[in-house]
Amino acid sequence: MAIRVVVVGAGIIGGSIAWRLAQRGAEVTLVDAGAMGGEASSAGAGMLATGGEIVSPHGWRQMALESRDLYPAFVQELAGESGCGIDFRANGAVELAASEQEWAHLEERAAAQGGIGIHSHALTIQEALDLIPGLEAGSMFGARFFPGDAIVDPRDIMGALRSVCRARRVRLVEHCAVRKLRAANGTVQVYTPMGLLKADAAVLSSGAWSGAVEVSGAQGAIPTPVSFPVRGHLIAYLSTPGRLNPILRHQNTYLLQRTSGRLIAGTSEERVGFDRSLDPDIVADIHSRASRLLPELAGIAAEQSWTGFRPAVEDLEPRIGRLESTRIWLAYGHYRNGILLAPATAERISGQILSS
Ligand SMILES: Cc1cc2nc3c(=O)[nH]c(=O)nc-3n(C[C@H](O)[C@H](O)[C@H](O)COP(=O)(O)OP(=O)(O)OC[C@H]3O[C@@H](n4cnc5c(N)ncnc54)[C@H](O)[C@@H]3O)c2cc1C
Repeated sequence: MAIRVVVVGAGIIGGSIAWRLAQRGAEVTLVDAGAMGGEASSAGAGMLATGGEIVSPHGWRQMALESRDLYPAFVQELAGESGCGIDFRANGAVELAASEQEWAHLEERAAAQGGIGIHSHALTIQEALDLIPGLEAGSMFGARFFPGDAIVDPRDIMGALRSVCRARRVRLVEHCAVRKLRAANGTVQVYTPMGLLKADAAVLSSGAWSGAVEVSGAQGAIPTPVSFPVRGHLIAYLSTPGRLNPILRHQNTYLLQRTSGRLIAGTSEERVGFDRSLDPDIVADIHSRASRLLPELAGIAAEQSWTGFRPAVEDLEPRIGRLESTRIWLAYGHYRNGILLAPATAERISGQILSS
């Protein structure tokens, strides 16, 4: 008989895990409090930017390096199986330094990254301008190119995951918030407003909300890591397709372009709980920072602005593995890199469940 797994939370993490489990013969129920992909996984920019995010190979960072390598095949398989187009481009990233001090930091980081397989090379100002015409060169002290960085549209991934989950007979239950998981006698009971679900294993992948799902066993409550949201803002401009090929970044500002022409600028980080509202000052600040990198944006109004909740845990180390002495797996806390980490997380969690 097929193993029955309930996956709690249908963002990119839960959706990818459900797909991998169903491909390998599990009977999967995927439950979401809202709509599949309706939270961080549709809000994210979709940079697969090991060059901008990782300096050492410890903890989740090693997994991120593996996940970056898995991405082209993951996208190809998902697009092929779903028949959905997925906007994925491995066009690299140009990172700028505006001062001698910033340049020294960037060089130091690049030297450390070279040792873990993240390669980059220095660009002359002319080379940077050749890659990104119209770039504000006046305030540029130096630039490096990270050829391994890539971009994916997470909304395309979520659309494709919905389609493959449906085709693989994953039972998708939306608008149903799981309240509690109870592990007992080698099984898991999942408490929902629509009744009790019984499973051989469960995955808690509810993003920033994961810590709010109660977990218990035969001996009573089982503590799980607290999760919390870190809100981020993004803004989008309508631009000519092909205007910006690589990611462009400087400190906490970045610009990237979808194949459709949609140009996205970010970002911000606020610890304000689950407050979804847009802060007009933050939107204006992102617009102003983006315009300093690409001056033509100064005269364009953003077409859209939005916020999303990055799922964080206290030490910012995602929890990806089995909850001791239960048949519950945790897969949350992916913070700024959940889009990047999805393929490797799905491989690890589905592999562990099916071999347990
Ligand atoms: C502005 C911004 C920019 C970002 N940029 C990038 C980027 O460039 N690259 C990158 O790799 N990452 C990026 N991220 C991070 C990335 O989006 C997240 O790490 C990732 O989407 C987390 O996926 P998830 O599936 O864990 O969470 P979510 O997508 O939030 O999914 C969790 C799901 O669980 C559901 N849920 C909640 N409670 C319950 C419950 N009780 N029962 C059932 N379901 C429940 C929710 O409705 C939700 O659908 C960005 C995030 C933001 C906000």
